[in-house]
Amino acid sequence: MADGGKTVVKQTAAKKAPAAKKVASKAVASKPPKTESRTALVRRARRINRELADVYPYAHPELDFDNPFQLVVATVLSAQTTDLRVNQTTPALFAKYPTPEDLAAANPEEVEEILRPCGFFRAKTKSVMGLSKALVENYGGEVPGRLEELVKLPGVGRKTAFVVLGNAFGRPGITVDTHFQRLVRRWQWTEQTDPDKIEAEIAALFPKSDWTDLSHHVIWHGRRICHARKPACGACPIAPLCPAYGEGETDPEKAKKLLKYEKGGFPGQRLRPPQAYLDAGGKPAPPLGAG
Ligand code: SF4
Repeated sequence: MADGGKTVVKQTAAKKAPAAKKVASKAVASKPPKTESRTALVRRARRINRELADVYPYAHPELDFDNPFQLVVATVLSAQTTDLRVNQTTPALFAKYPTPEDLAAANPEEVEEILRPCGFFRAKTKSVMGLSKALVENYGGEVPGRLEELVKLPGVGRKTAFVVLGNAFGRPGITVDTHFQRLVRRWQWTEQTDPDKIEAEIAALFPKSDWTDLSHHVIWHGRRICHARKPACGACPIAPLCPAYGEGETDPEKAKKLLKYEKGGFPGQRLRPPQAYLDAGGKPAPPLGAG
């Protein structure tokens, strides 16, 4: 069971051999100078993103979806629960209500029953049914592909809108979720705490074409290695570049045990992950009730 994930870790380690060795033994916090110039900050931020691209070459949105409607619904459902739980719940939802018209006309109690595993299922039922009604009434049953229109939909904020734009419409967007906020502050890319201000400051460090992938890289790193309470610094491939190295476990063996999903040899969050993830040894998540 652990083979797939370990293969991924090994491939990464092989690619990054010199840096990874340093991580295991004596990485030290790489503090930027107090007066770091703008150019140095841009360089440093882009270098971390390039390293993360090597660590997660298969990074992708972790919600299963086949079309923009499914993605916007899944993203709304993902509030205060894991993408895994949403992915385990949406197959039954979309099998019964494949279009906004179907969901808008549904019996709320039946939708609540399906959404129960996602938590806050009454509120979420209201949100996705309201969202579906708005799509039917105002957009002919299609998800609009513009930020200004997306944020007018009930339950859709900027974060959800950027997820949809970036992943269903190929329009660059930065997703400032809890992982993104934590990591960019650990790396001293910004001191802001307000998500909109973080988004603006980070957007200015990268070309627009990098925004969507950057969001995936940072969020994947936050979910697998750079955790909120116990970051696995001793097993972190970007430790030599990190000003916050040492905030978490630095012992390589202990740190390894903190790794999650494919980096720890476990299944991922998607029941239907992209082929690149499977090719790299990642494993699909189990369906609801199977694990
Ligand atoms: S786990 Fe996080 S805090 Fe620790 S070295 Fe890696 S990026 Fe830095």
